[in-house]
Amino acid sequence: MKIGILGAGQLGRMLALSGIPLGHDFRFWDPVKDSPASALGGQIEYEFNDVSAVSDFARELDVITYEFENVPTALVEALSVHCPVYPPIEALRDSQDRLLEKQLFTDLGHSTARFANIETLHELKVQVNEFGLPCILKTRRMGYDGKGQVFIKTEADIHMAWNMLQPGLPLIIESFVAFERELSIISVRSTTGETAFYPLFQNTHKGGILRTSISPAPDISPQLQQEAIEIARTVLERLNYVGVLAIELFEHNGELVINEMAPRVHNSGHGTIEGNVCSQFENHIRAIAGLPLGSTSPASTVNTTAMFNLIGDIPNIASILGLPGVHLHLYGKSPRPGRKVGHVTLCSENVTHFHDTSSSLSKLIH
Ligand code: AMP
Repeated sequence: MKIGILGAGQLGRMLALSGIPLGHDFRFWDPVKDSPASALGGQIEYEFNDVSAVSDFARELDVITYEFENVPTALVEALSVHCPVYPPIEALRDSQDRLLEKQLFTDLGHSTARFANIETLHELKVQVNEFGLPCILKTRRMGYDGKGQVFIKTEADIHMAWNMLQPGLPLIIESFVAFERELSIISVRSTTGETAFYPLFQNTHKGGILRTSISPAPDISPQLQQEAIEIARTVLERLNYVGVLAIELFEHNGELVINEMAPRVHNSGHGTIEGNVCSQFENHIRAIAGLPLGSTSPASTVNTTAMFNLIGDIPNIASILGLPGVHLHLYGKSPRPGRKVGHVTLCSENVTHFHDTSSSLSKLIH
């Protein structure tokens, strides 16, 4: 198949790296010249809001997908006239707006933080009073990696939060969830309706950016794993979803509270490339191409997988590769503070190897 991808960053690159061995060809749409995926297929360099390039991009494509959720829905609509675009536009619309997204989860009967739409400073004061402190004010749209959100810890923070998030932008307030840990469930549904679910990932963030993901998340009861699968399954079915869907969760008092979803392959799942029988990237390609899904189980020799993001700079490559069971992925991006430039995956056969090697890696990376 000839597959188009909106966005040619590291996710597009890893999608193509897994799809090329299956015989697929790729074309990318990204305004940034020499993006990480550009070496793996043709790239057209138009802005995402420039629909004049639609027929040029879609020419001879069998299917189109995207690697980020802020793709304008107008572009997806225009492309859909030429060929199928997956995941479906409803998933894109919901995931672009924190209010719609939370309403979807609560409609399906799932738990989220308490939330309310905020249009005025007065409404903000009323809701802070209702929810109690601390709480979080977020922009409804375009927030990622902790951007577009402000913690309100004291009454005095209310004005500061309001002014920081530019009054005029649609906002949402959320109660603070005093979670024990953050988890994610990565699921996949194909055009044939077949579904598959990875074991839960345990995620650690710093400054709102994902740092590490461990899979399978330690000490997860079969009931909790099943609860996460059922959450994902209901969302997949409601949206008639095709492709990989990631849902970020808080574990709070042993229960799952949904934070948000991403209608795409997800950073917490990068370790599936080596850690699982079939990676999230290959399963996304299989799903949109209508092929049978691959197994989401850990690879036969892998007990635990840990993924470490490389943020801001590239550590000494020889020291990283000198560690047993370690795999390096560099994205071809020049280092810059706060920028994800690559990741390292550690696949361990046993607990001792995991503890020893992950502590060596932590010293080299952070
Ligand atoms: P988000 O952009 O919504 O994924 O938020 C980034 C990070 O902020 C999350 O991974 C959490 O660590 C934290 N966070 C976001 N919303 C909440 C909340 N309602 N309660 C507690 N922590 C939160």
